[in-house]
Amino acid sequence: MKTLIAAALALAIATPALAQNAAALRDAALKDDTAWNVVRSLTSEVGARPAGSLAAARARDWGVAKLRELGFSNIKVEPYTVTAWERGPESAELTAPFRRPLNILGLGRSIPTPAGGVEGEVVVFASYDAMLSATDRQIAGKIVLVNQPMVRAQDGSGYGAINRNRTQGASEAARRGAIAYLTRSLATDDANNPHTGAMTYAAGVRQIPAAAVSVPDANVLADLAAKGPVRIKLSMMSRTVPGAPAWDVSGEMIGTGRPDEIIVIGGHLDSWDVGTGAVDDAAGIAITTAAAKIVGQARPRRTIRVVMWGAEEIGESGARYGRDHAAEVPKIVAASESDNGAGAIFALALPPGTRTKPEFAELQSTLAPLKINVVAAPATGSGADTAALHQAGVPAFSFDQDSSKYFDLHHSQNDTLEQIDPGDLAQNVAAWTVVLHFIANSTVDLRVPAPAR
Ligand SMILES: [Zn+2]
Repeated sequence: MKTLIAAALALAIATPALAQNAAALRDAALKDDTAWNVVRSLTSEVGARPAGSLAAARARDWGVAKLRELGFSNIKVEPYTVTAWERGPESAELTAPFRRPLNILGLGRSIPTPAGGVEGEVVVFASYDAMLSATDRQIAGKIVLVNQPMVRAQDGSGYGAINRNRTQGASEAARRGAIAYLTRSLATDDANNPHTGAMTYAAGVRQIPAAAVSVPDANVLADLAAKGPVRIKLSMMSRTVPGAPAWDVSGEMIGTGRPDEIIVIGGHLDSWDVGTGAVDDAAGIAITTAAAKIVGQARPRRTIRVVMWGAEEIGESGARYGRDHAAEVPKIVAASESDNGAGAIFALALPPGTRTKPEFAELQSTLAPLKINVVAAPATGSGADTAALHQAGVPAFSFDQDSSKYFDLHHSQNDTLEQIDPGDLAQNVAAWTVVLHFIANSTVDLRVPAPAR
């Protein structure tokens, strides 16, 4: 009984102290410029860095040097190979009813056009479903354009709603006899600015070239096509490179109490080849690295590992990390990836049951000045690169960021440092700092039994 009372007293004393430390670290994080300097350094000293490119190798060296400079230990480079995709010269032109250039970006993984390009009549659909329900006679021998607008939303849900337009549209158009596929950019801006991204070909379906058109040019094509025949010529010279080298870079802030209990966080180091990959995902690298540094310097109980994943955009780093670190899964107490830009955080989701544990009682009030709500619904995942870890049973925590401007920039030449608000970036670092501090100093096992199958 005595020990129980002593333990309860110790907890009662320990919990407010933890919260006080968290508030102090939060306020220090709001003034810390590490994250801004990291984004600035990566976007200016490396720039765009698609997996498999020479720039990706420079990004790897940058990551190692940056982690060392910021005081991380156990710095590792994990090499692997990917099937890389390299953009070549591209152009698109309206050829009838008159000639005019069009703003496009080939989609990642698209095959090139034949050397002389591909020319044909355009058939425009206002939505993906309209294309799916069209007859082969409407589509056969033509270039399909799906001109479906993306809805702007704080939680970014407009993107997921039409993601298949980019990722699966080419094969669906090809099944119906199309010779090329165009999607209106999956974007919320109306600048003459195409947005790229990865696509895949369905097995056994004829492969046709696929590209994203800027929003204004997609609207012009739709308007003209409503009045009469419209023809365009598309030329894309991309290259697929099997066996290209890629790397994940990681470093740790070693725990002082239970160094064998690891929190895995990070962002992805690779980017698309346009812009400088500032919001996607230098910001995620910067936020997690800065927060790990701040919490690490306060000597937490558990170890914090920052991973800079090397091939997220082409979908090749998450599953591999899960596979290569399967033996480590029992030691990973929680994981989360930051890959939703640099907008302010408005909500946090924790592993099931964590929110009501006594050690986490002060978390909500510590986050409240940052205007962040701890939601009741548990986190289900956090990003593509941690998905395999979560699937293997590693608890997830995840932040909802204001994504209402993210898709103005995402995968486009406008994704640059200038689009990041330093105040919002610092708010992200402060939020990650608070949550990392609580988890890294916790004695609680956040793992829940795997659901019955
Ligand atoms: Zn990303």
